Amino acid sequence: MPFGNTHNQLKMNYNADLEYPDLSQHNNHMAKVLTASMYKRLRTKQTSNGFTLDDVIQTGVDNPGHPFIMTVGCVAGDEETYEVFKELLDPVIEDRHRGYKPTDKHQTDLNQSNLKGGDDLDANYVLSCRVRTGRSIRGFCLPPHCSRGERRAVEKLAIEALSSLTGDLKGKYYALKNMTEAQQQQLIDDHFLFDKPVSPLLLASGMARDWPDARGIWHNLQKTFLVWVNEEDHLRVISMQNGGKMKEVFTRFCTGLTQIETLFKEKGFSFMWNEHLGYILTCPSNLGTGLRAGVHVKLPNMSKHSKFEDILKRLRLQKRGTGGVDTAAVGGVFDISNADRLGISEVALVQMVVDGVKLLVDMEKSLEKGQVIDSMIPVQK
Ligand code: ADP
Ligand code: MG
Repeated sequence: MPFGNTHNQLKMNYNADLEYPDLSQHNNHMAKVLTASMYKRLRTKQTSNGFTLDDVIQTGVDNPGHPFIMTVGCVAGDEETYEVFKELLDPVIEDRHRGYKPTDKHQTDLNQSNLKGGDDLDANYVLSCRVRTGRSIRGFCLPPHCSRGERRAVEKLAIEALSSLTGDLKGKYYALKNMTEAQQQQLIDDHFLFDKPVSPLLLASGMARDWPDARGIWHNLQKTFLVWVNEEDHLRVISMQNGGKMKEVFTRFCTGLTQIETLFKEKGFSFMWNEHLGYILTCPSNLGTGLRAGVHVKLPNMSKHSKFEDILKRLRLQKRGTGGVDTAAVGGVFDISNADRLGISEVALVQMVVDGVKLLVDMEKSLEKGQVIDSMIPVQK
């Protein structure tokens, strides 16, 4: 998208040095990898849908850094992006995903019975559990590049497929454009719906074009199983509920997700996937499982401890504020989730969260009693 190939041709009037972006103030993975000579080699390329190098990197050019997380600074516009621009994307992926090599193979495990524990997270501390992933439908461009017609076709397909879910998963689709401002805000405040397109990361990547056209949320009656349509990915599948029963949340996630995949298959559509990259999503940070399993957890003492950041790093966990990726924590309540996505299975990632959060809560309790936690500090995972 943002401009298409006509624009790319126009830029050929200037040589690569004159077109090369100023990345001198940047701290994202793309900016660390891209060089002037790589830019020169790749700028004439495009995918068969017309996604160009500048479309890949624009979000990282316009957003030098992020206050809370290290961003990747690039996006895919279609499945082919990861192939055509691999010279840039392979090292970005390697950097972001702990040295994941172009020859490495990803693992999938969506069998909830392989998860050990996870039903006993202390609900006095763990306020809610959530597991989400993204899925892209093969044959359509991804949100940074899709046309209005494609986006609407994805929405139509999603509504048709999801309407076949039954039992506890039976639900309804709510298009953003049919919602009042107040309804939308309520769903956002209750943590069910994606934020409005205010994030500069989303805006600069082109994903917010035509907002709110063909965007919406599907959810079951209890709002424990939800699907976002056409936000950052074609589909974002979410299972969540209050309290500390992560196993229950993950079980619903696996069952629902598998059913959705089957329903799409019955319609002749598959999800973008390959052995190396796993599930293919818009942001390279989500490749593989696309899975973010997290809890909202009260850690007022722990979060003030000088080793907090280090402990999270050792447990391969990430922290966010409870209002989403662009928010800071308030009152010692954090969103703690897995930092990894690729090369590790879904079950293994949720296991890390379950075990890690249990330890963090134990540490919090020790600090409450005025005890030292030095002996509890884990080794690097
Ligand atoms: P992502 O894009 O990974 O799904 P965001 O950080 O953008 O997540 O958050 C999206 C929404 O999900 C926000 O409203 C956030 O508060 C909510 N959320 C995330 N984790 C949890 C959780 N464990 N419990 C309740 N709500 C959550
Ligand atoms: Mg998000």
